[in-house]
Amino acid sequence: MYIETHAHLTMPEYQDLSEVVARAQAAGIEKIVNASFDLQSSEQSVKLAKQFPGYIYAAVGIHPHDAGNLVLEKIKELASNKEVVAIGETGLDYHYNPQTKEVQQMAFRNFLSLAQELELPIIIHAREAQEDTIRIMKEENKGKLRGVFHCFAGDEQLIEFAKETGFYISFAGMVTFKKAINVRENVVKTPLSMLLLETDCPYLAPEPHRGKRNEPAYLPLIAQKIAELKGISMEKVAEETTQNARTLFKFL
Ligand SMILES: [Zn+2]
Ligand SMILES: [Zn+2]
Repeated sequence: MYIETHAHLTMPEYQDLSEVVARAQAAGIEKIVNASFDLQSSEQSVKLAKQFPGYIYAAVGIHPHDAGNLVLEKIKELASNKEVVAIGETGLDYHYNPQTKEVQQMAFRNFLSLAQELELPIIIHAREAQEDTIRIMKEENKGKLRGVFHCFAGDEQLIEFAKETGFYISFAGMVTFKKAINVRENVVKTPLSMLLLETDCPYLAPEPHRGKRNEPAYLPLIAQKIAELKGISMEKVAEETTQNARTLFKFL
C-alpha cells in the first residue's frame, strides 16, 4: 500500500474524480493528501476531504506564486477542520517569480509560524531559492518545525539540512524523466527513512504517461523507479514511505 502525499485533485482537470479515486484505490493507494495553492483551492481541499472521509486529507496554504494574496486568518480557520493534516504548499520559488522575493519570504515566514502554532507539518515548495529557504527556516524554527520538501529539486546541502531538522524529502514523476539525472542522484543520496512519494498531479506525469494528465494511480511507477535506483524491492519502498507518511501526517 502507498500514501500519495501531494495531489491537486481540486483542479478542473478532474471532472472524472470518482473514477480517478477508484483507480487510485485499485492501484494500492491507501490515502491521499490533497495540497492547496490559494484560498479557493484550500476551501475546496477541505470539502474534498469531507467528501472522501478517511481517504482524502487536506493541506491548506498558499503557493509562492500566489503569495501576494495572503489570507492567513482564513487559512488558520480552515486548518481547524479535522481533515486538515498539514499546512501547504508554501515556500519560495524564484524560477517564475511573479511576486517579489520579499512578498514570498514574508508569506513563507507567516506559514512557518502558523504551522508551529497549530502543531501541523508544513509542505515546502523550494525552487531556485535554496539558500533563502534554509536561512528563513532557521530563523523561524521555534523547535516545532516538521514537514517535507515536496517535489525535491535541491542539492546535497538541502538534503543535509533536511537530515538535521528531521524533514522528509518527497519525489515525484521527474525521477522517471530521461534528463533528470540530478533528481535520480538525489534519490540515491536520500535515506529511505526520509523519503515520501507524491505525484504532484495533474502535473509531472511519470513515464510512460509523460505529457498527459497525471493522477494518484501512477504513484507505483515512481516507487518502481526509486526501488530500481536504490537496488531494493518495490515492496520495501512502499512499506517504508507509507510508514514515513503515517508518522509525518499522524495517520495512526
Ligand atoms: Zn509545488
Ligand atoms: Zn503542488
